Amino acid sequence: IETKLPKVGTTIFSVMSQLALEHKAVNLGQGFPDFEPPQGLRDALTRAMNEGRNQYAPMHGTAALREQIVSKVAQLYGRKLNVDTDITVTSGATEAIFAAIAAVVRAGEEVIVFDPAYDCYEPAIELQGARAVHIPLTVPAFAIDWQRVRDAVTPKTRMILINSPHNPSGAVLSAADLEELAAIVRDTKIVVLSDEVYEHIVYDGAQHESVLRHPELAERSIVVSSFGKTYHCTGWKVGYAVAPAALSAEFRKVHQYLTFCTFHPAQVAFAEFMASNPEHYLELPAFYQAKRDRFRALLAPSRFKLLDVPGGYFQLVDYSAIRDEDDLTFSKWLVEQGGVAAIPLTPFYESAPGTRLLRLCFAKSDATMDAAAERLCRL
Ligand code: PMP
Ligand code: GLN
Repeated sequence: IETKLPKVGTTIFSVMSQLALEHKAVNLGQGFPDFEPPQGLRDALTRAMNEGRNQYAPMHGTAALREQIVSKVAQLYGRKLNVDTDITVTSGATEAIFAAIAAVVRAGEEVIVFDPAYDCYEPAIELQGARAVHIPLTVPAFAIDWQRVRDAVTPKTRMILINSPHNPSGAVLSAADLEELAAIVRDTKIVVLSDEVYEHIVYDGAQHESVLRHPELAERSIVVSSFGKTYHCTGWKVGYAVAPAALSAEFRKVHQYLTFCTFHPAQVAFAEFMASNPEHYLELPAFYQAKRDRFRALLAPSRFKLLDVPGGYFQLVDYSAIRDEDDLTFSKWLVEQGGVAAIPLTPFYESAPGTRLLRLCFAKSDATMDAAAERLCRL
């Protein structure tokens, strides 16, 4: 058959998790915690199912959950959302990203993405008949070169897609970055899609510069987050999109026919848990910073060079002192011979830069980290 997505194969996350199983490797590849969500959240989910919340949820998400999101956004980012019009609960951030692109971008238009870019962006753009315009982030800081963005904007540019904290590098955008972005999109038809799934995971006392803190940008942005990252339950696949009423209305036209609504019991559970544990996401930076620091200390004696990690739950490592080969080859060797699964960066690029970097996930228990570090330090 004639394929619509000739460049798309199986995502690297599934490929590496499968290889990890086959080779009994410690899996630091696909990004997910190997520990459980809070007991209170799991109890709330069970209760929701036992109390009959098992039929369709409201299309935009339950009112109770949207109210919790309103409170959180007001508290953290100082923006007052309208609970009825501005929030749509989705089946993971993945659905929100797809729906946002499908709702806004037309055939023949362009979307600016920054490489390395999370792998679900480009296929969603291509399926609209649009084109992803790739701008490489600077190495090793993984910062945006705003002059390159100014140069890349054309009359066809319909969307700029940003991601902070960034997967895979952990880089975070600053308030100055958002000012640069605002100046570029001012007086254009460009919509900003801001992937903020790691919004609560920033380190060393820094604050997350959400687009929602920036009133001018927030008026033309769709901001996406994921409960999977925040509450250690990536398998529940619940996320949300925040946008002003007119943009949300367009977003919802796609959402209602893509999935209509999202897993109802989980929405009940998140609303209840957020109301009674408002400190959970406030404690997340310290929780993951302890993991980051522990993981870095374990790898310090290894031959891997550790890049800085300002946010997110991934550690980039330079392996060039161990073997001089491309990252796809090295990650295959590492899972087969070294007993550790990692994610190469090449699949996140339009044209691979030839860096010798791998991504390791440290959202892991002490035992998993110890087992991985023991193997990595032997190389
Ligand atoms: N965006 C980024 C940057 C991610 O890392 C992920 C998941 N790892 C997603 C989106 C998708 O989130 P979800 O699992 O909620 O669909
Ligand atoms: N977002 C996760 C990661 O970056 C993977 C999600 C998936 O497997 N699709 O590892």
